[in-house]
Amino acid sequence: MVIDRKLWDISSISEMEKWPCPSCKNGTLGITKDKISDVETGASLVDQKRPTWEPGWVRGRFSAMMKCADCGEVVVVSGDSSVSEFGHPDDLTGEEYYDAFTVFTVKYIYPAPPIFLIPDKCSKATRRELEKAFSQFWSDTSACANNMRCAVEAIMNDLKMRKKRKTKAGKFEILTLHKRIEEFKVKNLDAGKLLLGVKWLGNGGSHTSDTSFTRSEILDGFEVLEGAIDRIYVQSDQRLNMLAKRMTAKRGTPQSKT
Ligand SMILES: [Zn+2]
Repeated sequence: MVIDRKLWDISSISEMEKWPCPSCKNGTLGITKDKISDVETGASLVDQKRPTWEPGWVRGRFSAMMKCADCGEVVVVSGDSSVSEFGHPDDLTGEEYYDAFTVFTVKYIYPAPPIFLIPDKCSKATRRELEKAFSQFWSDTSACANNMRCAVEAIMNDLKMRKKRKTKAGKFEILTLHKRIEEFKVKNLDAGKLLLGVKWLGNGGSHTSDTSFTRSEILDGFEVLEGAIDRIYVQSDQRLNMLAKRMTAKRGTPQSKT
């Protein structure tokens, strides 16, 4: 499944209303326009007194309540608001005129909608790390990258990839995440390569405190992680089902357990 990036690189309420519900995953989150609270900041009001002031200078904070029409889940969302202007020529006169619209930059959301659907076969630990990453995506991209790295660790645990190995000297050596993924690559090259990419992104998030990623970089990471998860938890099932179907077609439905 491909991530619809337009949903997450958002700037308008209409895109927020297409988010999947974090509880039932089936419904989408609706928002009542008159329930959006958008208040201009004090600094922005002071700017309005300047002679060179333009509408594009307006800055505010917003909050809103969203509700799933299917299951009734309620989501609270808040962040920055600003005004963006764009000019275009009038159809009749050809004169340039400007339209202004409010841009919303989400900073906090609870509970966070899933940026991609987590397969049922993922363990609780993997699901927990992914849900943390979905939440941190809005407020702290470095923490989000680190949560993605933790999700990769949890996936290695789901797959029972060993955590340590015996050295020639007979002692146990703890395997780094990198080495665990390298061992996994022998079994599943495609998924292993993708997980290594996510691990590198996570290294940046956990090892350098002042590193911050753009949301676009993080969405790249989510796309790659989702691709790996699909190959590990979904496609393997599909392949087994296909093999079972082929075997049944070739040998017939077994009449007994012998
Ligand atoms: Zn719902």
